[in-house]
Amino acid sequence: MTESINVSVQDPHSYSNINEIRTKHLSLDLEINFENKTMYGVARHQMSDSKANTAIFDINGQVIQKITIGKKGAEKEADFVIGKIDSDSILGQPLVVSIPRGTKYINIYYQTTDRCDALEWIEAENTASGKYPYLYSQGQAILTRTWIPLQDSPSNRFTYDATLHVPKGLMALMSAENPKYKSPKGIYHFEMNLPIPSYLIAITVGDISYKALDKQCGVYAESPMLNRAVKEFQDLPRMIDAAEMLYGPYAWGRYDVIVQHKSFPFGGMENPMLTFINPSIVAGDGSLVSVIAHELAHSWSGNLVTNESWNDFWLNEGFTVYIEHRIMEELYGKELSNTLCEIEHYELVQELKSIASSSHPEDSRLYLSLKGRNPDDGMTSVAYVKGAYFLKTLEATVGRKKMDGFVKDYFQYYKFKTIRTEIFHTFLNKKLLYPNNIEFNTDEWFYLEGLPLNSIAIKSKRLELMRDYADQTNRGDDIFAQVERYRWVKIKGKNKKRKESYMEQLDIKNFNTQEWQTYIRNLSLRIDTTHLDQIDQYAHFSEANDELKFEWFLLNIKKENRSIRSKLRVFLIETGRRKYILPLYRALCLNSKDKVWAKQVFNEAKGGYHSVSRNSISAVFD
Ligand SMILES: [Zn+2]
Repeated sequence: MTESINVSVQDPHSYSNINEIRTKHLSLDLEINFENKTMYGVARHQMSDSKANTAIFDINGQVIQKITIGKKGAEKEADFVIGKIDSDSILGQPLVVSIPRGTKYINIYYQTTDRCDALEWIEAENTASGKYPYLYSQGQAILTRTWIPLQDSPSNRFTYDATLHVPKGLMALMSAENPKYKSPKGIYHFEMNLPIPSYLIAITVGDISYKALDKQCGVYAESPMLNRAVKEFQDLPRMIDAAEMLYGPYAWGRYDVIVQHKSFPFGGMENPMLTFINPSIVAGDGSLVSVIAHELAHSWSGNLVTNESWNDFWLNEGFTVYIEHRIMEELYGKELSNTLCEIEHYELVQELKSIASSSHPEDSRLYLSLKGRNPDDGMTSVAYVKGAYFLKTLEATVGRKKMDGFVKDYFQYYKFKTIRTEIFHTFLNKKLLYPNNIEFNTDEWFYLEGLPLNSIAIKSKRLELMRDYADQTNRGDDIFAQVERYRWVKIKGKNKKRKESYMEQLDIKNFNTQEWQTYIRNLSLRIDTTHLDQIDQYAHFSEANDELKFEWFLLNIKKENRSIRSKLRVFLIETGRRKYILPLYRALCLNSKDKVWAKQVFNEAKGGYHSVSRNSISAVFD
């Protein structure tokens, strides 16, 4: 059946009629079947008081079996129609249920299919242990509707509970209070008693173990990864302390982290009580833990105070990057936080250039206009880094003390609510700018393209040194060559010293990931490929952590240095993180010979990518 339904008034990416009737509590009962990669069950919605005679939900890819009205056990079947799919099939379909006025309970019986893009089902042979299959979901931005029929708009918050039936031997986890041991029967019950937006409902099932970091937090992972991850994330309890000191109490009770399957498309996802983390973050030297600080920061910005629609995405991410840097500064000092900041600024400037010459130059505004487009288009460094620079520039203007007080008040005032840019603007004027007689070009930051001229500059001294090293390399010098140096040594039994020569070589370990990243980024494309190969022989960038591998491969692709192909191929197959693989495929496609090779690798690798990465990369080959 088809029917034409308009998108919601509040949210251009949902068909739901949340302004008339909305879910207050969701209760899931699902059977997870790995053999046919399907979930079967029921989503029971407890609705707000309303006089509406229809309730509209979002679905995308599920088969709806029946819909009933009434409490469990006293249910009556209801009529429903499924509306047309939008032309780009981004939004999915509206599910329109006819209900008598005052209906409290709507129960949707359904099953998922292979078109349910949130879910990644992984065969046993592709897991870390190789013994049991694995499943995880990625809900943001609008994929929760692909595994649960619901009103999929961040502007509605609701509580949920879930009962999951999974094969014996597997542990199930959700964005809720979680088990620490496997259930012998494979039945798990979850409660999330604080209201959250739909994109934060998340699930993972697999051969997972748990280890505590302290009373409040710990790490879940497949066994081969667990101890490494615990070591890598040992500073997490201190990060929580720092964030609470700055922005008030952590609201969610426990904070645990799960190291996800390698196909996970993002660095992390801030699912409440259970952050999902990409295994690439477990670098072995703690060099990428700012991602943990970032996901933790979302416990305030995003999860406690949520963007009302995806046009206001910067309110989630700009605040989160700002807080991430503050946490990093508290734990590791200003120099490291400045380093992160300068690196991200570089990425922002690159992205602003490419947005300015794209078909949507308006995407460089903080307040976005994504109606009719995939909300993932708004996931650029504009929301993250321009957003953070807005807050940093504001901080530099009003002073840190006032800024901290304001941000803390903001979270307190809007906790468990959703907010849009305009409302934030009013709050900012009333609480910070007017009382302190401060003029600030807020409109320019929110509603105009590009980076305003008053944006502050943050520089790291150590990165300056790395640019110097890059300059030397660009001039043809070998910075890794042994050099002869002299020192004075005492002559035995005498009061005299003599000059002694020794050989010294730059030690790779003296610089961190972000510093080498800056070195690679500043290498010129005029360097010949033999020199690049020599550098790699000493520095081993092509075998370093994923962040450095990525930078190294990108440079070598631009140089058309095909000696890296076998290592690059392995990286593209083994890594699912979109931040790395999408730019690499893009760079390969700029050259027709490399494009053919890249297509072959993609065909081999795509079965192992989550839909979020797979769909973005497919578009590169179109
Ligand atoms: Zn984030």
